[in-house]
Amino acid sequence: MSLDERAFFNEKPETRQGRFACPKCRRSNDYTIRWVRRVKKDRLPQGAGEQDRAKYAKLRDYLLRLDDEVVCKACSKRFEIPSQQSMVFVDQLAGLPNDDDLEKEIEAASGEPAAAKAVEEKKPELPARFRQNASNWK
Ligand SMILES: [Zn+2]
Repeated sequence: MSLDERAFFNEKPETRQGRFACPKCRRSNDYTIRWVRRVKKDRLPQGAGEQDRAKYAKLRDYLLRLDDEVVCKACSKRFEIPSQQSMVFVDQLAGLPNDDDLEKEIEAASGEPAAAKAVEEKKPELPARFRQNASNWK
């Protein structure tokens, strides 16, 4: 008898933010979506056989979405979460840029902060005597 997949994981509930547009009123809002994170156990559970061992070796941590629908904050109509994956591997998730990374990439592409940084680096440091004087003021 082979073990249920859940026997190989520790579960942890998790919430993630998602921005969805309501198909009824077309308004976009942020919604808190419930997920469960399944983290592979450090070792095989007791009673695991050869088959389980092979299965365990292939498993990866993943997130499973629990919510399929949200209730629109604007018109209170229930709608399905549009075309979003309901299961995401954690390593896959790490490979995706989050909003902050994306911002940085956009900034880098426009070149502005890089230029600002260069100016900052060129700014001469205060000569040592000025810094010493500051601590002597009394
Ligand atoms: Zn709506």
